Amino acid sequence: MRLGALEAGGTKMVCAVGDETGKIYEQISIPTETPEITVPKLIDYFKKAEVDALGIGCFGPIDPDKSSKTYGYITSTPKLAWADYNIVGAFEKALGVPVGFDTDVNGSVLGEVTFGQAKGKKCVIYVTIGTGVGVGVFIEGKLLHGMLHPEAGHVHIQKREDDAYEGKCPYHKTCLEGLAAGPAVEARWGQKAVELNDRKEVWDLEAYYIAQALSGYILTLSPEMIILGGGIMHQEQLFPLIRNYVKEMLNGYIKTDEIENIDSYIVPASLHDDQGIMGCLELGRRALKEK
Ligand code: ADP
Ligand code: ZN
Repeated sequence: MRLGALEAGGTKMVCAVGDETGKIYEQISIPTETPEITVPKLIDYFKKAEVDALGIGCFGPIDPDKSSKTYGYITSTPKLAWADYNIVGAFEKALGVPVGFDTDVNGSVLGEVTFGQAKGKKCVIYVTIGTGVGVGVFIEGKLLHGMLHPEAGHVHIQKREDDAYEGKCPYHKTCLEGLAAGPAVEARWGQKAVELNDRKEVWDLEAYYIAQALSGYILTLSPEMIILGGGIMHQEQLFPLIRNYVKEMLNGYIKTDEIENIDSYIVPASLHDDQGIMGCLELGRRALKEK
């Protein structure tokens, strides 16, 4: 089967054609402008590709609830041109094929549990730390939506005493995104994150904040694996620091093989940054199967 995959991001739209094994035949990227400008280009691409179904992993907030009147909409996003936009409807109408839809981060976790290192696991969390912080949750074999969908990048974080930075989130200031996403790192230290490679204190503080959030997720959801991706996690030096802080914060309370072997518990993404787009293939496959 020919499956279309669309990873819809705030800065770019990644489009791919592939199949149910996760094989990607072709891939392009289009800048995200307004729906009027961007969507016709995407439709054109998927029409020419003659896909049997499409899976969309989308920036949010979105409405993933199939029983809702606004199912398939991007809802209250700060990217105003896309607020209250029926993205699923636009593709269903233009392509006439089944369309699967979820958050970008649920797409990524689905990619990892379907094709990557988390295959066979039932409870897995995917955290992206980039321009923002997003968390995808696969739990008891399903992508978690609940009331809306998890927005766990915005959990409250206890600021460390030596950190004078006020926080960047317009809603909460010092949530995880406000303290630890790329723009916060760059505002705090006055330099591009990539240029801060050698500054140990930068990554130690970063790990301290990420670990606080992960400890909370571990205690709340009991994941069997936590996968970390996004631009900031290209700093591989973060992994041992995060693992140490998580162990310190849990303080021996959770005694499992996973926490004991934390190097294989808190891990980088395994699909060469294709976890998101591969997850969208699987969203498309599932939509086709449902029809
Ligand atoms: P997005 O979140 O927009 O999809 P990314 O996940 O690539 O995009 O995240 C972009 C953020 O990651 C930027 O704020 C950038 O500073 C940061 N970033 C990108 N590459 C690196 C790197 N090698 N080291 C540290 N930070 C990085
Ligand atoms: Zn916030």
